[in-house]
Amino acid sequence: MNPSHDELLQAPLDDLFRAASARRDAATGTRITYSPKVFIPLTLLCRDKCGYCTFAQPPARVQAPYLSPEEVLSIARAGADAGCHEALFTLGERPEERYPVAREWLAERGYATTVDYLVAMCRLVIDETGLLPHGNAGALDAVELARVRAVTASQGMMLESLNPTLAAHLGSPDKTPERRLATLEAAGILAIPFTTGILCGIGESRADRINALVAIAESHARHGHVQEVIVQNFLPKPGTSMHQAPPCPVDEYLWSVAVARLLLPTDIHLQAPPNLSDDFGRLLDAGIDDWGGVSPVTPDHVNPERPWPAIDRLRQATEARGFALAPRLTIYPSFVHAPERWLDAGMGFPVMDHSDAEGLAREPGEVWYSGVEVDPPAIVPAPAHPQAGVGSASEQPAAERQAPRRRRLRAERGHVNRGHVGEILEGVMLGQKPGVDEIVTLFSARGPEVAAVAEVADQMRRDIAGDVVTFVRNRNINYTNVCTFKCKFCAFSKGPLSLNLRGTPYLLEVDEITRRVAEAEELGATEVCLQGGIHPSFDGDYYIDVIKAVREASSTIHIHGFTALEVTEGAKRLNEPLDSYLRRLMAAGLKTLPGTAAEILDDEIRAILCPDKVNTEEWLDAHRTAHSVGLRSNITIMFGSVEQPVHWARHLIRTRDLQEETGGFTEFVPLPFVHMASPIYLQRKSRRGPTFRETLLMHAVGRIAYGPLVPNVQVSWVKIGAAGARQILQSGANDLGGTLMDENISRAAGAAHGQLMDEAGFHEIADPLGRPVEQRTTLYGRAAIPA
Ligand code: SF4
Repeated sequence: MNPSHDELLQAPLDDLFRAASARRDAATGTRITYSPKVFIPLTLLCRDKCGYCTFAQPPARVQAPYLSPEEVLSIARAGADAGCHEALFTLGERPEERYPVAREWLAERGYATTVDYLVAMCRLVIDETGLLPHGNAGALDAVELARVRAVTASQGMMLESLNPTLAAHLGSPDKTPERRLATLEAAGILAIPFTTGILCGIGESRADRINALVAIAESHARHGHVQEVIVQNFLPKPGTSMHQAPPCPVDEYLWSVAVARLLLPTDIHLQAPPNLSDDFGRLLDAGIDDWGGVSPVTPDHVNPERPWPAIDRLRQATEARGFALAPRLTIYPSFVHAPERWLDAGMGFPVMDHSDAEGLAREPGEVWYSGVEVDPPAIVPAPAHPQAGVGSASEQPAAERQAPRRRRLRAERGHVNRGHVGEILEGVMLGQKPGVDEIVTLFSARGPEVAAVAEVADQMRRDIAGDVVTFVRNRNINYTNVCTFKCKFCAFSKGPLSLNLRGTPYLLEVDEITRRVAEAEELGATEVCLQGGIHPSFDGDYYIDVIKAVREASSTIHIHGFTALEVTEGAKRLNEPLDSYLRRLMAAGLKTLPGTAAEILDDEIRAILCPDKVNTEEWLDAHRTAHSVGLRSNITIMFGSVEQPVHWARHLIRTRDLQEETGGFTEFVPLPFVHMASPIYLQRKSRRGPTFRETLLMHAVGRIAYGPLVPNVQVSWVKIGAAGARQILQSGANDLGGTLMDENISRAAGAAHGQLMDEAGFHEIADPLGRPVEQRTTLYGRAAIPA
């Protein structure tokens, strides 16, 4: 039952804290967000004269009425270089109506109003830096708001107070309740993701604050547009008319924060600016779930070596209370995921370009992308003193050697048990099988929670697959890049129907295929992996002829080939039932099927990524049929382009269900989307691939979701690189995949990692972990490896 306003006015602070915390926890769990942003004070001039304001200055105190475009860009670029996502334009309200110098400055440059100039500068910042502008221009009318909407991801205006008699607002024509409420309402009608808030301690009463919060909640109920409410405390500042007024008492402020959490619907996030409080922890106790903006670029602090000290402090305070800190964009996830409603068409891609799969921000400053030769952030660092020598593990098993480290990690992460991630991990350790909701929650892990998920996955890897890190000597033969299909992510395919973005079309002669097989065998390969485009001239017999040619070149090499799409198309073009066709492929020498062409096994996403390819059920059915005739195969997932964690969860559950039915999958192979040359990214319709946190979690959560059903989890060094692969080997993976002489598909998409990994390379990855490296067969045996 919601407390009455009278009850709120009288309630003891501790009771309010308990209720507000519980309400916040139920809505946002352990997640506390902040926005890495740069502040652009476009003009310090303002026509209002608020009694508490230190921002506004008279013309005599400023060098120029407005920042020049060069100054705007210089601040924005510094922010972008430091890893910010947001450009927060702060400015006084309509200074041109008070100061002739402002009018003249604008007129000389062809602008009639401050809003005109703001719109131009937002556009400049998007075009030149990609940062997402947030407009904070005060009380605007609907026409002005609509113009700013076209060049921003969100806007904001503090409601402050609806008490019309406050002395602090005398002389401020823009601070009347009518103007503030009209702006809030117009923003709702225009579907603008909107930030507002109240100011505490400027002479208003508790009842006034309740009135303002109720008005915000009512406007939000009509339009759904209020993404966050800031509760800010007044502090007296020298040089203002209220410099002798007392600051807002701490308990009064905390009362207001807790009451805001209790009065506002939980889809409105609650923010308290940490720079105005000494005790961060108390703000968390009072129910906030957001810290607001944090900037690496301020007038008094520009330190390229360590640009985010404020984040370190926030992280400590956040984690000390058992929460996990996550960067967000200026627009919150529920709005990011409904761009047609909430964003101007031109802002959709800039938002997506900064976003992760949850609609939160990519980690500020992370320069790792799938396929880029840059080391990822250290989420699960290697142990400092491995005891195994290169090429061999010490006699003490790695599990025992690393026990002290694990104990320390557990102690550090004890508080992870506080939230849903901790609860689910406990259930997993008791043998529970996570469903879609639990898997989505595991993918939401941040901070210490990520390490906790990785640790449970690592323990399961140890129990299921042991300490050995395996690899297979193989050669990829991509026999053609001509393809009749139009997968939107595919930079590999060429042909009349594809986008022809890179390279020239080719089709290998059968002689060339046999030559490559013989060469691979000479170099010690035990497997060839055959995959290619769907050439318009192929019928199903082409694939059988290729297998026969491979067999002619080698009587023993393992033939791992043909995706669900290739075999389904092959059978279709021959008008032959799939099981009969697969039997003929087997008779010719095919041994296993790769799990590629799975992308995301969810038709909602396939409709975007690969609308003309096999659908989810057809992919599953191809593997079901393959397993029924005795062919084994693996599960892949190509993640990080347009989908969300719920689609990953459905993919894992659908393939797990099939594995329970057939037992035919040998391994799980996550394939992070490489965006650089991918058509869908170049057309500005996808994200930049997964973040490293997401990539690590895909392997760890996959290990946890499949459990013993799928014993092997492979990490793709081609897409992730050696340093990333090492971390993922500590997060559930036990296999490094193949040596992959000639890897064309990832490289076509822009991946920079090499085309060949030798055994020494695998040792370089695994030796620092003290884990032995062994060559395996395709089916994870050891015996068939030639000397
Ligand atoms: S992913 Fe495969 S089927 Fe799709 S266009 Fe590329 S080569 Fe063709």
